[in-house]
Amino acid sequence: MDGEAIFIRRADHGARILVVDDDALARRSVRAMLEHGFYQVETAAGGEEALALLPTYKPELVLLDIQMPDMDGLEVCHRIRALPNGELLPIIFLTGDERPEIHAQALRVKGDDFLRKPVLSAELITRIRSLMRLKRLQAEIQEERDNLLDLQKQREQLFEFIVHDLKNPLTAIQVGLELLEDREHKNPTSQVQVRRLRDTAHSMGRMIQNILDIGRAEQVGLELRKTRIPFVTWIPALLKELESQAQSRSHGLSWDCPDHLEVEADQEFLRRLLLNLIENALKYSPAGSNTHIQARPTEKGVRLEVSDQGQGIPEHMRERIFAKFVRLDETGASTRSGSGLGLAFCQLVAEAHEGRIWVEENLPRGSVFVVEIPHATAGPQPAP
Ligand code: ADP
Repeated sequence: MDGEAIFIRRADHGARILVVDDDALARRSVRAMLEHGFYQVETAAGGEEALALLPTYKPELVLLDIQMPDMDGLEVCHRIRALPNGELLPIIFLTGDERPEIHAQALRVKGDDFLRKPVLSAELITRIRSLMRLKRLQAEIQEERDNLLDLQKQREQLFEFIVHDLKNPLTAIQVGLELLEDREHKNPTSQVQVRRLRDTAHSMGRMIQNILDIGRAEQVGLELRKTRIPFVTWIPALLKELESQAQSRSHGLSWDCPDHLEVEADQEFLRRLLLNLIENALKYSPAGSNTHIQARPTEKGVRLEVSDQGQGIPEHMRERIFAKFVRLDETGASTRSGSGLGLAFCQLVAEAHEGRIWVEENLPRGSVFVVEIPHATAGPQPAP
C-alpha cells in the first residue's frame, strides 16, 4: 500500500499550548520545538500573566515551569484547577529541580505530568500527544456518562408522567363504577358484574400507586406521616375494602387482635402494605379458602401476620420474592395478573418504618407474610 496515500490527521494537530516560564531562553527553545510539531504557541513570563491569558487564549494544554519569582508553577496549577472545568486542562510541569518533595507537591496540586529540564523535543511531543489523547478520552467518557444520566432521568420522568396520566382516567372509571353499582341495585346479576369491574379497577389503582411510590422511594425515599393506628377499629375498616373481592371468590377473611393494640406508623402506607398482602392471598389461593389477619404486640413493637391457604412460596424463593419484578412460575394460574412490584413496595414500607417483612410456611399449606413494625424511638431528650 502506498504510505503517502494515507493521511491521518492527529487530533491535537494545531492545538493551542501555553508555555509559562520566567526564563526567556527556555521559552524560546520550547516554542521552537512545539511549532516544529505543528502546535500553536503562546508564552507567559510568569504566573499572573499566564492566568490572565487563560480566558482569551483558551489553551488546550499548559507547560508550566515550577520555580518562578512572582507566583510559582504549583500555585498557578492550583488556581487553574479551582476554575470551572479547570480540572480538564492538561498541565505538564517543567523543572530542573530533582527533589522528590517537589514531585510530590506537583502531584498534590493535580499536575498531570512532569518533565525534566532541559527538555528533549521527542520526549516533549510524545508526552503532549499521549496526555492530550488521555484527556480527550476522559472528556468523551464524561460526556457519555452525562448523556446516560440525562437519558436515565428522562426515562424516569416519562415513566412517572405515564403512570400519573393513567391515574386520572382510572379514578374517573372507579367513580363511574361506584355510581353504576348503586344504580344497578335492582339487578343483582349486573350489580355483581359491576362490582367485579370496580374491584379490578381498584387493584389496578394499587398497582399504579406501587409503581409510583417505588420510583419515588428509589429517588428520594418514602416520606412517612406517622399517626397512632388503633388496630381494633383499623383492621375491619381495611378488610371492608376487599370484602366484595373476597366474596366473589368465596374467600373467607378473618382477623384477631388484642384490644388497645396501637402503633405509630404511616396509616396510608401501612394500609396499602396490608391490602397488597391480602390481595395476594386472594389471588394466589384457591377459591373457598380462608385468609387470617393477626396483629399482636412484640417486645419492640407490633407484629402483623397475613396467613393464607394458597400455593405457598418455595423455600429458595422466600427472600427473592421481595425483589422488583420477581414472580413465581405461573403454571396453573387462574386470575393472576400482576406486576411483581407489590411485595417490593411492602418491603420498602416496612424498612421505611425500620421494620422487617418476610414470609414463612403456613401449615398444612400456604404462606404467612409477617411484618414487624417497631415502636417509634423517642428523639434525643432535651438536657435537664
Ligand atoms: P404480583 O402479585 O403483582 O405479581 P407481588 O410482588 O405482590 O407481585 O408478588 C410477587 C410474586 O410472589 C407473585 O407473582 C406470586 O408469584 C408470589 N406471591 C405473592 N404473594 C403470594 C401468596 N400469598 N401466595 C403465593 N404466592 C405469592
